Amino acid sequence: MTTQKSPNYAAEPKTIKIPPVYLYLFSEGDGKNKKLLGGKGAGLCEMTQIGLPVPPGFVITTQTCLEYFDGGFKLPEGLADQVRQAMSQLEKSMNLGFGDSEKPLLVSIRSGAAISMPGMMDTVLNLGLNDETVRGLIKRSGDERFGWDSYRRFISLFGEIVLKINSDLFKNAMEALKKERNATYDTTLSSFDLHGLVETFKRIIEDNVGKPIPNDPYEQLFMAIEAVFASWNGKRAVDYRREFKITPEIANGTAVNVQAMVFGNVGEHSATGVVFTRNPSTGENVLFGDYLERAQGEDIVAGIRTPKPIFEMKQVMPEVHGELLKVRETLETHFREIQDMEFTVENGKLFMLQTRSAKMNIAAGMKTSVDLVNEGLITKEQALMRLDATQLTQLMYSQIDPENKTPPVTVGLGVSPGAASGEVVFDADEAERQSKTHGKKIILLREQTKPEDIHGFFAAQGILTTVGGKTSHAAVVARGMGKPCVTGAGGIKINSVEESATIGDHKIIQGDVITIDGTSGKVWLGEVSMVEPEFSKDMNTILKWADEFRRLGVRTNVDTPSDAAKALRFGAEGIGLCRTERMFNAADRIGIFQEMILADSPEDRAATLRRLQPLQKEDFKAMLRVMQGFPVTIRLLDPPLHEFLPSEEEIQRQIDMLQKSKVALDNVCRLPKILRTLDPQLEPFLTGDQQMLNSLARLQKSELDKKLETLQKIRVLKEVNPMLGHRGVRLGITYPEIYETQVEAILEAAAELIKETVAVKVEIMVPNVCTAEELKRVEELIKRVEQRVTEKTGVVVPYKFGSMIEVVRACMRAGKLAEMAEFFSFGTNDLTQATFSFSREDAENKFLPLYNQLKILQDNPFEILDVKGVGRLMSITVEWGRRSRPDLEIGICGEQGGEPSSIEFCHAIGLDYVSCSPYRISIARLAAAQAAIKEKKGVHGKTV
Ligand code: ADP
Ligand code: MG
Ligand code: MG
Repeated sequence: MTTQKSPNYAAEPKTIKIPPVYLYLFSEGDGKNKKLLGGKGAGLCEMTQIGLPVPPGFVITTQTCLEYFDGGFKLPEGLADQVRQAMSQLEKSMNLGFGDSEKPLLVSIRSGAAISMPGMMDTVLNLGLNDETVRGLIKRSGDERFGWDSYRRFISLFGEIVLKINSDLFKNAMEALKKERNATYDTTLSSFDLHGLVETFKRIIEDNVGKPIPNDPYEQLFMAIEAVFASWNGKRAVDYRREFKITPEIANGTAVNVQAMVFGNVGEHSATGVVFTRNPSTGENVLFGDYLERAQGEDIVAGIRTPKPIFEMKQVMPEVHGELLKVRETLETHFREIQDMEFTVENGKLFMLQTRSAKMNIAAGMKTSVDLVNEGLITKEQALMRLDATQLTQLMYSQIDPENKTPPVTVGLGVSPGAASGEVVFDADEAERQSKTHGKKIILLREQTKPEDIHGFFAAQGILTTVGGKTSHAAVVARGMGKPCVTGAGGIKINSVEESATIGDHKIIQGDVITIDGTSGKVWLGEVSMVEPEFSKDMNTILKWADEFRRLGVRTNVDTPSDAAKALRFGAEGIGLCRTERMFNAADRIGIFQEMILADSPEDRAATLRRLQPLQKEDFKAMLRVMQGFPVTIRLLDPPLHEFLPSEEEIQRQIDMLQKSKVALDNVCRLPKILRTLDPQLEPFLTGDQQMLNSLARLQKSELDKKLETLQKIRVLKEVNPMLGHRGVRLGITYPEIYETQVEAILEAAAELIKETVAVKVEIMVPNVCTAEELKRVEELIKRVEQRVTEKTGVVVPYKFGSMIEVVRACMRAGKLAEMAEFFSFGTNDLTQATFSFSREDAENKFLPLYNQLKILQDNPFEILDVKGVGRLMSITVEWGRRSRPDLEIGICGEQGGEPSSIEFCHAIGLDYVSCSPYRISIARLAAAQAAIKEKKGVHGKTV
């Protein structure tokens, strides 16, 4: 770790050592500086300074955390003094004393890094309690039950988080007591019970660490501060940062917030809650969330009791509810962003404990973007920039078919929209195993989830819990990941010993299929039919705004007219890649095409191709007609021919079968003769059968010959490395008949449409080009065909001629190629393979995951464009290509063309368009706009 000296420290003259500022009071800290104060600390400072009711406290900086690690896990010198000083400020403003047996001040110790890492680091509440101060707390509040409740919470939290004692020990002791008292909820336990629990908890601590929990509040405080610092490098936090690619530039070290306690568990008019300023799953402009009466801290998130929806507070505590609405307005106007807030009500008085930008699903993100613009709070640019383009795939999630008639077996709370079916699994490890090793679709079913279940979320299609509300751990995490989630499905009872569950009369075990709908909260047994979603009104508005800002065109990669029509609906402005191999692979063509491959002479080949030509022409006509004059880039045949033939094993198997059948057939053929000798009277019955048998034998022979011939051809065509073999333009040079037929079909299709006055824009693209000479040969071939077509149809078809760029040599010869090619299209799948000398399948299956883990490579270059290598080649190609042809049209049709950071790079190097699958078009439209806005604002995007 690097030793970064804090700035004011470095600025001081060397002789006088003034200790750095390790902490800031909430009333002083710079709320804009999340890197230094952490998100939570910054939010608390900001809220304090705009006059919201926040219990006083201070933030120990993230920089201090780094110094703690640098100093070998020792709190830096001078920190203790600053903490004591700040504590005396808290004492003063609360009019209480830390460790005072009459009027004890209690504090919470809360972690908080620059970006929120939910549940990754823990909070200690009620710190400052001991056998003496608890008496003071009881006296001051006049509520004995509350005193013991707070104390037992403190001991278990301190035990778990600071002393690292297994939290189950505390939980089990509590559960045992609840059972003894026949209590469903913690609230039913009496003051006497809780006092007993305190003693039990103290014993657990002594038994596990060999000494009692410290009595001295300052000792408690410093131990807790250290524990929070240390949790930054705990396994959970490190795993989370790796999973979500949180680098030190984004967040480095955690801050520690020390804050005066307020109590949601005292008396009758207290509560704690988590609310969003707007509904984070729909974006609807209403206060949204839950609260829990007589509760503290994590009760609500942990799903201990099912909380009440916040609107019910209006009846119970109307003033507090009204105040909360005002806070909502203040915060949104201040941050110009939807907030996720935590609050506590102590004896009818509201205190704000946290605020941060809300995590929303993309549907809510879009609605709030549109609304915030309409409310005048943000600009269109800001509205676009606050959305995560990758999340748009969430809207491609299935929904339950509205026509579905199957009744659900139970209904919980729909907390993260989308529908999912899968096999029930009861724990996260098993979910991971089932999904990773068996490729199963999983629904994770649990009573409630915890941070250590996170790998189960990644593995699952959807999450279902039986307790917990809209802001439970399961709901928050699922929403963040855009996975369907239903919580609080109390109709399901889980039997964790048996690993089974019952819903009404139905028993389910692992492997049973269920369906959940995260929108309505419904749960079905088995699979339920689903439908694809339509773009919402908000989505259309956002994408229309995106279109106003973007410079890059967005095309699509499709092979069929129906996909083309879908892509148009999603906003495609052309086809960037139409592969023609499908046209040969279709059921009615593959036979003819195989015949063509098997043909012995060019003449035979041409003859079979002539049979295919009209079929292809119709395909091209349909495609061009759908695209209504948008450019359609058609790639001439690319894959090696053996891909169109059955595999060697398959043919061998068929030959074996035919040969076996010959033996059987020979035997049967002998049968009539034998019968005849046995009984001449059978003669009249045997003649017909004999004929049939003869023709069967003939058929068998001709089939066998054909198969043997095919086998022969397969062996001839077999290549050591097909990826680098006889494919692409090399096929076009060796079998010009194939390209001629394709070009003829394309141009005739266009000519016929032009005659019908349909607008067409054809771009003919040659794959796998390495040399200018290859391109020249194909150009000549096309010119020849063009002349023929013009003579035949009387129409001059305008078209563009271009090259795919997917070979490194082609990049190096871009200038020369551009003398002929009117357009380039980067085939970044092959270009990436060629640049790395990786074959994609081998890389992804064998070593890429380890490479990523070891950070030899940051990403999978087949998903995210490798800007430094492949990107460099691309920018050279663009430069040299445009030097010889300034109006050279350049696009990308590799898979990376639908990935936001790759799109940003394509924008930066001046491509004309990106082309991606229909489902990624909306991502591309938004990402292209974001790239343009970033450039305008001078934010450096991805460069080589
Ligand atoms: P997390 O990062 O897991 O949300 P927090 O530090 O926000 O952890 O603490 C969790 C909860 O603990 C808060 O939502 C709040 O209910 C409770 N809490 C924290 N500090 C205080 C405090 N000073 N007074 C009362 N409750 C607190
Ligand atoms: Mg927590
Ligand atoms: Mg919190």
